[in-house]
Amino acid sequence: MTVGILKESQGENRVVMLPETVAELVRMKTDVLIEKGAGERAYALDSDYEQVGAKVVSVQDLVTVSDIILSINPPEKDNLIKMKEGQIIIAVLNPFFNPELVKELAVKKITSFSLELLPRATRAQSMDILSSQATIAGYKAALDAANNLPGFMQMFMSAAGTIKPAKVLVLGAGIAGLQAIATAKRLGAVVEAFDVRSATGEEVRSLGAKFIEVEGARDESSAGGYAVEQSEEYNQRQQQTVHNHAVKSSIIICTAQIPGKKAPVLIRKETVEQMIPGAVIIDLAASAGGNCELTKNNEVVMHNRVKIIGRSDYPSDMPVDASRMFGKNVLNFVQLIIDGEGNLNLNFDDDLVKGTCLTHNNEIMNQMVKDAINN
Ligand code: NAD
Repeated sequence: MTVGILKESQGENRVVMLPETVAELVRMKTDVLIEKGAGERAYALDSDYEQVGAKVVSVQDLVTVSDIILSINPPEKDNLIKMKEGQIIIAVLNPFFNPELVKELAVKKITSFSLELLPRATRAQSMDILSSQATIAGYKAALDAANNLPGFMQMFMSAAGTIKPAKVLVLGAGIAGLQAIATAKRLGAVVEAFDVRSATGEEVRSLGAKFIEVEGARDESSAGGYAVEQSEEYNQRQQQTVHNHAVKSSIIICTAQIPGKKAPVLIRKETVEQMIPGAVIIDLAASAGGNCELTKNNEVVMHNRVKIIGRSDYPSDMPVDASRMFGKNVLNFVQLIIDGEGNLNLNFDDDLVKGTCLTHNNEIMNQMVKDAINN
């Protein structure tokens, strides 16, 4: 079995596996190919990969020879064209926002696994790229907010007077939100957080932050720990509550998302217009439309002296640990489909294999994606 590691396109600093993880893949009796220069932006040289037993090749050779292709982002069009029936690709394919790619993978009979579809079961935790990368995003978002704030995060007592600590509001207390809370607390800020899932209240409080409640949220156990869309009436009450807290905050970190859907809008333009001058909004939901009405993905917007940073790609700013965690997640997933002799073993009776599979044999395998594409 030959496994190929693609180089990510410009703007992405991570690599799907660092040499330390490739070493483990080689021990699984697989041949590992790596595209020339794939690890450079994550400080891993071709020679580091060669030392652990991988072979450095051109992208052309990699795409035509590999049985399994690994990458973080979807393959570029040029590479997709070269792929052939029966090949396997494992990546974050973002199917809800990439319907054309999904259709093409199915037409070409490529077996694709989209890592963000991995069911969130206990057994899957070691493969969960959403969790590992969200941890990084939350941490970096808090640091970036502090860097952009025109003041201190912590309380400061000096001969020049006392400066109050920054007030941070975190919207969405999932993996990224909890990490943002913990990081902002360590920097000395006063932190409050809000989530539609009441179960998060205890986690928020255990980190020393205040939990803001808006009663009457729809919470569905069938959503596998995720949030679901809320009623219009609830959304309006929620926006009012968020508004009341937002106008007193100097930092807002937005992380609220609903898988496969546009991110909920929690901060209206009118709210931004009443915020403290110099306040910073970091919107991690930017790539799914953003939690702030004024967010623009991959842009910094200044509105009424408030800075709105729309970024969902913070893990790329921390490429070494992000690639380390991502690679380990992928290795654990690959172990589900390669047996002890290095042979392919696609067992669709395994919930994790089935749940993560996007396309196989001409078919879109994931029902949610299929419904979204057909509607
Ligand atoms: P996510 O990125 O989809 O969403 C982030 C947060 O936004 C969630 O906490 C969600 O409830 C919240 N949110 C959605 N709509 C909102 C709204 N209108 N207002 C306020 N908040 C809103 O989720 P995530 O962080 O990836 O994970 C969510 C949960 O999934 C975790 O907290 C955990 O319980 C569960 N989980 C389980 C496993 C596992 O068992 N393997 C792994 C990871 C996460």
